[in-house]
Amino acid sequence: MKKLALHWQIVIGMVVGILFGYIMAVTSGGAGFVANWIKPIGTIFINLLKLIAVPLIIASLIKGISDLKDISKFKSIGGRTIIIYIATTVVAIVIGLTLVNIIQPGSGITQETIDKLTTTYAGNTKIAERISEASRQKSAGPLQFLIDMVPQNAISAMSNNKMMLQVIFFSIFLGICMLLVPEKESKPLKKFFDSLNSVILKMVDVIMLMAPIAVFALLANVVVSADDSDVLLALLKYASVVVLGLLLMVAVYCILLSVYTKKSPLWFLKQISPAQLLAFSTSSSAATLPVTMERVEEHVGVDKEVSSFVLPVGATINMDGTSLYQAVAAVFIMQVLWPEGLTFSNQISIVLTALLASIGSAAVPGAGMVMLVIVLESVGFPADRLAIGLALIFAVDRPLDMLRTTINVTGDATVATIVAKSVDKLKEPKVKNWDDQL
Ligand code: ASP
Repeated sequence: MKKLALHWQIVIGMVVGILFGYIMAVTSGGAGFVANWIKPIGTIFINLLKLIAVPLIIASLIKGISDLKDISKFKSIGGRTIIIYIATTVVAIVIGLTLVNIIQPGSGITQETIDKLTTTYAGNTKIAERISEASRQKSAGPLQFLIDMVPQNAISAMSNNKMMLQVIFFSIFLGICMLLVPEKESKPLKKFFDSLNSVILKMVDVIMLMAPIAVFALLANVVVSADDSDVLLALLKYASVVVLGLLLMVAVYCILLSVYTKKSPLWFLKQISPAQLLAFSTSSSAATLPVTMERVEEHVGVDKEVSSFVLPVGATINMDGTSLYQAVAAVFIMQVLWPEGLTFSNQISIVLTALLASIGSAAVPGAGMVMLVIVLESVGFPADRLAIGLALIFAVDRPLDMLRTTINVTGDATVATIVAKSVDKLKEPKVKNWDDQL
């Protein structure tokens, strides 16, 4: 009997997880049961994905670059990637700003709702943490991001998943220098990384066998920890604007894909769907990266020379969903708490700061909100109303994080496919012998 495709298994896991979460939320002791016995399954799964992220980036980048034969190709891949990443992010921000200005979700928020949300969340430690994390990041100098990219110690960079850009820097440097020494001398190293790369991609397949159960656990936990539905309803209009914007972004990707690659967008979405479903369930593009790489290479047909660079860089700096959310959230908060600040020039500066903020956001759950603080501060939002502003959107942040992470990952995969096509590196996909299922 033919086994159910992986994406359907994951969808079933998600639906059962949500239902189970609802049942547990209304059962006495249910939340504790989920926290003690169900959540750990999801955490183990995320740990496994993070475990292989650094070795995968190293092996695949070094393999990708050392396969190139000459460095000029790398320059053209790098240049195109960065330009397309910036362009799609600007499109996302403009879509977000246009929608939030037309739909005006802030106008429906009453003083009563503001008071309720403020009393519920303004003292929330997570909000305070995000504000202080933002001020830590803001106090850095303008070139700090360049300094941060260059590690002092390769091993310590590899020991921290937050240092992804440092690992990318080291791997590119090593890969390029492998091209600069005679082939005879680089061969043993190349063989080692080629082999490491194949084995790690197989580890992705093995870990993915656990995905349907893991997403069940992750979503059950999200549901039992969700806020009461009254609060969620009050923010429905704001959340709908973000969701509408994210859907329009998917349409943008589909148009780009069919125009530039002549591939069917539906086929493409189906191929990458397990990565999207994982992004949704984990809210982390970094944790999803190994699966995104596997899907884009083996199921879409993007050559490793392109995907090994474009995807890890994208997971760290290209966040179209996050930037769209930051633009909508910033304007929504201003509509409610500081309407006089909504000038045209402030909106233009939101385009710029949301672009930089999405580049600077870490690819982990909730990171977009930290950088939202910086976006708000950059337009002069009154500091004393900052905590209230975040309190306004906090209740729906997790579901929106799940959705924006899905778009972030979709954007990375789309750009990888377009760049591959532009340098003639988009081939017919070759799915390995057993993949996703034993
Ligand atoms: N969770 C998002 C990601 O990993 C970042 C964010 O918007 O919070 O892509």
